[in-house]
Amino acid sequence: MAWTRTHGAKFAPEKYQLMHFTRRPKKFNMQATVQIPKFQAGPVPVMRILGIHLDPKLKWGPHVRLTAAKAASHMASVTRLTRSTWGATFAQARQIYAAVIRPAMSYGCPVWFALGDERANRNRLIYPLQTVLKHEASVEPLDLHLERLAVSYSAKTENSEGDRTVEAARKAVETRAQHRFKTKGTALARQDKGKAAIGKEIEAVWTARWEEYQQQARTQVSHERHLAVAVRTPWTRGLRTKERLTKVKSTVATLLRMEHIGLNDYLFRRRVPGYAKPDCDYGCPRQTPKHIVLFCTMHTTRRSSILAEAKMSDYIELLSTEAGLRAVTKWFLQWDILTQLSLAKLVYGEKPGRRGRRPGAYVDEDDSDC
Ligand SMILES: [Zn+2]
Repeated sequence: MAWTRTHGAKFAPEKYQLMHFTRRPKKFNMQATVQIPKFQAGPVPVMRILGIHLDPKLKWGPHVRLTAAKAASHMASVTRLTRSTWGATFAQARQIYAAVIRPAMSYGCPVWFALGDERANRNRLIYPLQTVLKHEASVEPLDLHLERLAVSYSAKTENSEGDRTVEAARKAVETRAQHRFKTKGTALARQDKGKAAIGKEIEAVWTARWEEYQQQARTQVSHERHLAVAVRTPWTRGLRTKERLTKVKSTVATLLRMEHIGLNDYLFRRRVPGYAKPDCDYGCPRQTPKHIVLFCTMHTTRRSSILAEAKMSDYIELLSTEAGLRAVTKWFLQWDILTQLSLAKLVYGEKPGRRGRRPGAYVDEDDSDC
């Protein structure tokens, strides 16, 4: 304090925080304090330094919990945004996630992410997006993303410790891919080094997770055909099919593949006010993407030219190949089909009726004459 007076410097002890660091808190007096004029507070349980929350054991639970809470509130905003427009802003939602939410969640991860320690990392972070969304959005699952960031950080710190960490992490991911998901070892990856190898292993784990999710989804429905096309088709890397489409076509393709779309069947099942029935206004039992693409009498005349252009008529093929998606999305956009349907609703709309699912109302297209 004497030094500050002679050097014109100023401290602000009232802003100080005190924390004792130890892994054995019982061995020490954790309530001990220090004598500094104007500093009265005792030790704190969590301290924020440069955006990272520290605790006395230098474990990252508090940081991850606080970050997850923040991320969850961000996510709630994005969800409200996409819901209010029924998925129309899906592409933007993905962008917001990748540009805002994920960076906030992964901030400082080279410090707190336990690289290669799967048990420590698992279940720690709230990852609010559904597996399907991650897949369709081509957004890397968060833990894999963190692994990638941490590895590339370690790789940058050019020393032998960094090399060892990268190699250990690569091995850990590889082992996981082999044991937990029963995938085959990738001989190629073993020859590669560092980031490239990690990229391949992450891809393998991600794919295996997708397959695991598909298996789960299948057990929840009585028949495969009740699943959205996105869930029924195999993993394709980054969905290259969609990447070659224009942005707007790719959005329409995603909506159709996930069946998250402003059609009566979806809106009814999601209990949107004003959608009392899942049927089509043309008397067909369920207005689904498949119904519109293949069956609805409203579109009979234009449908044939679309099927001819795509040179296919199988629904799964139409929605999982580039040619099929190109033709179908072009058709939807050219004739503004989604808008037409919502306009028809406006013109012929019914008053909101009884909400909720009616037993027995679930009739699949394959069983109807529509
Ligand atoms: Zn119809």
